[in-house]
Amino acid sequence: MRRPKGRGRSWRRGEPGFDAAVLATSFNARDPGVRPDLLVEANDAEDVCRALQLARENGWPVSIVSGGHSWAQNHLREGGLLLSMARINGIAIDPASRTARVGPGCWGLDLDLALRPHGLFFPVAHAPDVALGGFLLQGGFGWGSRALGLATESLVGIDVILADGTQIHASATENADIFWAARGSGPGFFAVVLRYHLRLHPRPKVTAMKMQIFRQRHLDAVFRWADAVGASVARSVEFQMLITPRALGIFVPGIEVIAPVLAGSWEEARAAVRFIDASPIRQLASFTTPLVPMSTAFMSRTANITHFPPGVRWCADNIWTDAPIDDLLPGIHAIAETMPPAPSHSLWLNWHPPATRPDMAFSLEAKRYLAVYGEWKRGAEDARYADWATRQMAAMAPHAAGIQLADENLGRRPARFMKAENLARLERLRRTHDPAGLFRSWMGREDSLSGGAEDRVLEEDV
Ligand SMILES: Cc1cc2nc3c(=O)[nH]c(=O)nc-3n(C[C@H](O)[C@H](O)[C@H](O)COP(=O)(O)OP(=O)(O)OC[C@H]3O[C@@H](n4cnc5c(N)ncnc54)[C@H](O)[C@@H]3O)c2cc1C
Repeated sequence: MRRPKGRGRSWRRGEPGFDAAVLATSFNARDPGVRPDLLVEANDAEDVCRALQLARENGWPVSIVSGGHSWAQNHLREGGLLLSMARINGIAIDPASRTARVGPGCWGLDLDLALRPHGLFFPVAHAPDVALGGFLLQGGFGWGSRALGLATESLVGIDVILADGTQIHASATENADIFWAARGSGPGFFAVVLRYHLRLHPRPKVTAMKMQIFRQRHLDAVFRWADAVGASVARSVEFQMLITPRALGIFVPGIEVIAPVLAGSWEEARAAVRFIDASPIRQLASFTTPLVPMSTAFMSRTANITHFPPGVRWCADNIWTDAPIDDLLPGIHAIAETMPPAPSHSLWLNWHPPATRPDMAFSLEAKRYLAVYGEWKRGAEDARYADWATRQMAAMAPHAAGIQLADENLGRRPARFMKAENLARLERLRRTHDPAGLFRSWMGREDSLSGGAEDRVLEEDV
């Protein structure tokens, strides 16, 4: 993605430059072929209020985009108004109170770099250009989130503009229902976030990474080992594995075992990743790297080169799962064997959540997270690959506890993404705060709520 340049303006459908301006809002280079009637690139709160008024007057449903990293391109819909918050991206840090006020268009990388001189830290996303706008609404697992909690747990408040144009502040003590909804509703949120108020953390003294690479023929052994050690891995380590058609250093299909660690000292960091050197399958590895010091900004930028290059077409989907590894391996093999070309990949994230979290809309997770990301370059290949992620995760759905909104694919595969009682509460809040349904919700919402689609799990929930 590129950072927005110059002052934002409005673009009417069909005028020169309109198509390019709409498509530039999306990280995913696929063109779904739909267009809004009007695109408003907001510069400030007044622009947002004027846009909402225009939408109310014209009967236009409103979709919102900040960093445009929704894999599903949730903001691209036919007709209505598209409100871009990408230019509202300021950062104001108060080191004394360890808080920051940040616009929704702010990139994770920019916040990370701004906090560094103050010795402060926030668990931003792993790709540099994911904006806080959508990241915090869906929960947000970022650098250090296994230890620090979901990024949204470090929110102390939000400034939002409601459907009727009212500006309010929401926190645990003020408009608490809206604050509750903002932490986990993702594309189901029913207002515009204008500003986030963040609680900051001390910056970890050591950030480093260790890797181990295996050929694909060792898939069973690697996943069985990862599953067996998962619960005992220190929370300072974001132990994950990527299945990829072109693994680092060996350039053939393989599994990248990746262990970023954020720790208080080198001693602690080394101890935290010792399980990789001590592993019984170490001899099967093509190679193992030492623990190498690396800033989170460097790791994010590298991820964009190796795994998330811009200007390509994507499909994605995911499951949370607590199922036994023997039940999962056939589906994992199918993923590896049918994967589109590199840098397509599949992520196995060793999550093992804490026993409790604060009461918030986010309410569904499991010990392991499995996601698939298919990537291709040419429009002619859309028909071949566009449904790949959906098919893989649909096949594994019987072993899933649900999905998470970061990598949602709800337009193609409705699935449970929060507890039933939380979803019911979210829908009640939507009716209260957006009674006319001004704001669009997640794709496939109608199917999800009415049971019109293949997965009817949400029907009983609401
Ligand atoms: C390359 C890549 C890497 C990723 N890495 C991670 C990761 O490490 N951790 C993680 O948790 N997730 C990750 N994600 C998922 C990402 O966090 C979500 O897609 C998130 O929604 C992106 O936020 P955004 O503002 O960039 O996207 P957008 O597409 O702009 O926003 C997504 C949705 O959020 C809502 N929204 C956005 N801004 C506002 C606003 N101001 N007010 C109201 N509603 C709004 C809209 O419904 C919008 O459709 C990644 C995605 C990609 C493409």
